[in-house]
Amino acid sequence: MSFEASMQFAQLKDSEDKLAAFKHKFYFPQINGKDVIYFCGNSLGLQAKTVQPAIQQELDDWKNLGIAGFLTAKNPWMYYQEYFKNSLAKIVGCKEDEVTVMNSLTVNLHLLMLTFYKPTAARFKIIMEAGAFPSDQYAVETQVKHHGFNTEAAVIEISPRAGEKTLKTEDIIAVIEENAESIALVMLGGINYYTGQLFDIKTITEATHKAGAIASFDLAHAAGNVSLKLHDWNVDFAVWCSYKYLNGGPGAVGGLYVHEKYATDPSTPRFAGWWGNDEDARFKMEKGFIAKPNASGWNISTAQILNMAALKASLEIFEEAGFENILSKSEELTAYLEFLLQQLRDLNFEIITPEDRKSRGAQLSLYFRVKGKEIQQKMLDSGIVVDYREPGVIRIAPAPLYCSFEDVYRFYEILRNNF
Ligand SMILES: *Cc1c(COP(=O)(O)O)cnc(C)c1O
Repeated sequence: MSFEASMQFAQLKDSEDKLAAFKHKFYFPQINGKDVIYFCGNSLGLQAKTVQPAIQQELDDWKNLGIAGFLTAKNPWMYYQEYFKNSLAKIVGCKEDEVTVMNSLTVNLHLLMLTFYKPTAARFKIIMEAGAFPSDQYAVETQVKHHGFNTEAAVIEISPRAGEKTLKTEDIIAVIEENAESIALVMLGGINYYTGQLFDIKTITEATHKAGAIASFDLAHAAGNVSLKLHDWNVDFAVWCSYKYLNGGPGAVGGLYVHEKYATDPSTPRFAGWWGNDEDARFKMEKGFIAKPNASGWNISTAQILNMAALKASLEIFEEAGFENILSKSEELTAYLEFLLQQLRDLNFEIITPEDRKSRGAQLSLYFRVKGKEIQQKMLDSGIVVDYREPGVIRIAPAPLYCSFEDVYRFYEILRNNF
């Protein structure tokens, strides 16, 4: 790929982009009466224009059908979670029986840890990355305590080498091997939310299994953003939220994956509710939980239709665009952003996200030694939404469904002309 730092080149790329028109399927917030350029899809994806009619459909069916909607709504509510399996299986790379939607991310992380984190006196440790997303840290800390262990002893955090910002796979493997006798679980973010680093999930999973432990990943920043092969990589379980790259809306229903060797085995322990029960037996109102022989066996409560409708509408856009097309545009768009940033060597900043395209998704995290906050403000004033995290990090995520090469070029132009 050879790039040029010019608006003309950016516009040429947009004219060749098969997905360029998808931008028009989304609503953009406005600043000074104009659509913003939105680089925060890693925090909250934009609303597709099809979301409102999709929710309206469910409201109408509820209004007109009442209880009958469970079986006779346009999208019968009884089977609502089934509608996600096909597209999510493609997005996270697994079999349809291995995926479901329910609750939200941290809740699902707790529930799956209840299934998979079975500490014993000898094997009780959990490995995670240092500086993991706070919710994951709290979940792990309180699970450890729940089982009567002490956090200091049980939680092992992997940190970058001195002077580095991201983790080396060999260092992750080394920590797993050093603790091979005592680890129960490895729980990493698939992509670290701060640095944008995508971990080598396959290699980490292999090393974890060799150590006799469970390999799990929080895919909040990875689902819908990078190519995943959860089944082939033999990952034991994974959870994600649907409001970042998946554009499911604030607090959207979360997703989870459980490898079929557990998911198809109804005897795998889980905390149950009637929605995870075998459908034929559910309404017999009898004692004795009979788990569905798939990931849906982890469902607990009645599907949250109004919430799920938004994600359903969003995933239809992923289907229409084709996930492979989304990924290849994303790789090029982020590479273009990186190329442009490399032209600004005089500016005092560092791209902390890995340069290797296989070790990142859409996001680049820029560490500005000075003026980080000021740059973010200037971007906002210019109609570009980027986020800022202390100390000095601006995260930019050009989500391929609604960001263009021209958008990326505008960001560069403002940096170049003002700082
Ligand atoms: C966004 C994010 C969360 C948020 O969890 P919720 O339960 O959906 O609020 C958790 N973990 C990671 C790594 C995230 O990026």
